[in-house]
Amino acid sequence: MTNDTQAANNAGKNDWLQSYWMPFTPNKAFKANPRINERAEGFYYHTSDGRKILDSFSGLWCCNLGHRHPKISEAMKAQIDELDYSNAFNFGHPKVFEMANVISAQFPGDLDHVFFVNSGSEAADTALKIAIAYQRLKGEGTRTRLIGRVNGYHGVGFGGISVGGMVNNRKFFGSLLPGVDHMTFPYDMGSQAFTRGEADIDVEPFMKELEGVIALHDASTIAAVIVEPFAGSGGVFVPPKNYMKRLREVTKKHGILLIVDEVISGFGRMGAPNAATYFGVEPDIVTIAKGINNGAVPMGAAIVRKEIYDTFMEAMPVGVEFFHGYTYSGHPLAAAAALATQQIFAEEGVYDHAKEMSAYFEEAAHSLKGEPHVIDIRNIGLAAGVTVETRAGAPGARGTDVFLKTYENDVAIRANGDNLAIAPILTMGKAEIDQTIEALRKGLRAAA
Ligand code: PMP
Repeated sequence: MTNDTQAANNAGKNDWLQSYWMPFTPNKAFKANPRINERAEGFYYHTSDGRKILDSFSGLWCCNLGHRHPKISEAMKAQIDELDYSNAFNFGHPKVFEMANVISAQFPGDLDHVFFVNSGSEAADTALKIAIAYQRLKGEGTRTRLIGRVNGYHGVGFGGISVGGMVNNRKFFGSLLPGVDHMTFPYDMGSQAFTRGEADIDVEPFMKELEGVIALHDASTIAAVIVEPFAGSGGVFVPPKNYMKRLREVTKKHGILLIVDEVISGFGRMGAPNAATYFGVEPDIVTIAKGINNGAVPMGAAIVRKEIYDTFMEAMPVGVEFFHGYTYSGHPLAAAAALATQQIFAEEGVYDHAKEMSAYFEEAAHSLKGEPHVIDIRNIGLAAGVTVETRAGAPGARGTDVFLKTYENDVAIRANGDNLAIAPILTMGKAEIDQTIEALRKGLRAAA
């Protein structure tokens, strides 16, 4: 903090906060009662008012290794002294090619070509564009429709909000992309509340619904289905057993591409390298971001199967490219941070540790059953969602209240309406999980 801002703060004025329009934040409430992280290290944020806050949301699902891992910091410092930026179009630099190989090796089967972007939103829009263009290049240009899912989140680009299914993210922004349908979300709080992991229910009704949508439009008009393996931003809602496998079978049968949005589930969150591996399903396209480089520099990617890449290469005359990309695609600093991050994942057994902690975390999270306001708890890997009963006439108010009361106990989680989400740093141990759950327990008891 500069001396000026410190002085303003000390004087009790928050004027210096006014110009910044903060994303996904109730700005007025925040500026009246700000939370300013000045520094971070390991599992903790250090705030401008001298507090030490346990980060039980891994930044925003992205700092899977905690903050300022020394190896990532070193790699970034070295990179900045070597190559700051390299024209992303028609030029390359070593680390971005290396990184594409490292990423491909983690995903199953033929998912072996990586298109780098700068965020999860860009990854979603890139994946949708690749899907539609691919269908056209292989002679199926009528396949332009897309199918998403209710409560899905694929970022905030027009493509992402069109296939996404969160009403507040859609309703202000006009008619969105045409030709999009949404499947039902395969979780029913009424009958499945307090499910641990994946529910053991019949998934065929969901497949029947999808078959119905496909039949309505005819498969020859549908390019792709896009889903999150579990709904993260929606509040950690987990699909039932066998759902992903059946979704793969149904899409394949109809020549429809399956896009899986692994922006949260990639890089260890489920106690596995990614959801594709966890579920034993090979999608056609996978999107990633966040944990790819521990949130150190914006980076994301769309990973495609070889056949998709080859179709583009064969269909495009020599000298003609895929007309898509970003100035900062594969940025050297992001790639350097990513290589260091991936090396740590590989060398330090992080995914195995996350898997080991998952059972303990499940017990801890579900111990909140019976606490005031709690109407549902869900979990998978190191992610959990706790839903509190909506206060009459004030959706989201109670969730926010619990979030703030938990923060008073020095733990940062996230509230998305009345769904609270916890995403421990993957290297946390039992002590940090206990601290998180006990802070939330106090938060629930203190909330009105
Ligand atoms: N997809 C999923 C599944 C996400 O969780 C998110 C971010 N929470 C995004 C896409 C968008 O990522 P970004 O905020 O980096 O654009």
